[in-house]
Amino acid sequence: MNLFRSFLLILLSLIIASGAVHSQYQVRRVVIDAGHGGRDPGAVGKHSKEKDIVLAIALKTGEYIEKYLPDVEVIYTRKTDVFVELHRRAKIANDAKADLFISIHCNAAKSYAVYGTETFVMGLHKSDANLEVAKLENAAILKEENYADIYDGFDPNQDEDYITLTMFQNAFLEQSTILADEIQRQFRERVKRKDRGVFQAGFLVLYHTTMPGVLVEAGFITNGSDERFLISSDGQVYIASAIYRAVKSYKEEMERKDNKAQQIVRESVKDTVVASLPEVFFRVQFTSSKSPVTFREKKYRDIPDIKEYRQDSWYRYSSGNFKTYDEAVKHQKFLRENKKFKDAFIICFAGNERISVEEARKLTKN
Ligand SMILES: [Zn+2]
Repeated sequence: MNLFRSFLLILLSLIIASGAVHSQYQVRRVVIDAGHGGRDPGAVGKHSKEKDIVLAIALKTGEYIEKYLPDVEVIYTRKTDVFVELHRRAKIANDAKADLFISIHCNAAKSYAVYGTETFVMGLHKSDANLEVAKLENAAILKEENYADIYDGFDPNQDEDYITLTMFQNAFLEQSTILADEIQRQFRERVKRKDRGVFQAGFLVLYHTTMPGVLVEAGFITNGSDERFLISSDGQVYIASAIYRAVKSYKEEMERKDNKAQQIVRESVKDTVVASLPEVFFRVQFTSSKSPVTFREKKYRDIPDIKEYRQDSWYRYSSGNFKTYDEAVKHQKFLRENKKFKDAFIICFAGNERISVEEARKLTKN
């Protein structure tokens, strides 16, 4: 078999694998997560508590989605003033096989002058300010019993722990960012709020979810004007409708793109047998690109078993096929250090289904 033919075969198998791994992504189930609750008030302002504001916004957001997007089911992590652990919030979303996770919060700053909206996606923080927001939100686990056991010794106040946490970067980074950008655009253009931007940081609640997700900071409760807006009924309606509109346009965009991608995959899969895959396996995603990568260059030669999968107009490439997490970590290190793919991260599957690293580690331990 000549080289080019084998290259073609590899490419074909990549496309097939992508079809097997990626079932059609539609937005059918959305989890709305009102931050904090019960014994955890969240950030506290002069006249209000974060937990009350975000519950009101969450319920309104869900109401709009249910009313105007009748094919979407809304699932709440809480509908009343109760305490819900962060890992349980994620479990609610994972068990429901939700397509989208939206966590709603209010921000706090030492300076009363700071105001505006921010939306976060899971990833490595690029500034101390972003790290501080994650610390503030993750501190909710200190109110949970057995948090050290449940979160594998994660300490919300330790900077180093955030590096480890974000080793497993959000595999849904692009999708989550599309939604985050849309939320900020709605806040800026339709609600005239200050748009402070879209950022990455290590949020436990997003880390534990296995679908695209964002954490919205709807304003600073520590700023007088932001707080007045957030506690007003009008303000809550505006914020909720902005999030609803962002979900709507995200859904439209995803389903349009996804259908295109699916067609391509289906055409290539015709007349071909899909190889069966081991129960639980680990791969390392090392790059993604807006246009397909050919991997003809020398430097790719010793990267084993490269697979492509296309989703929402991005081509994602992963390598390796490991039965254990430790092998995957070794391979990740190789890709990061020897191959200079500094953002390479581990992804896991059970059969055709994408699962969280945490879940895969649990399954392979037994
Ligand atoms: Zn919060």
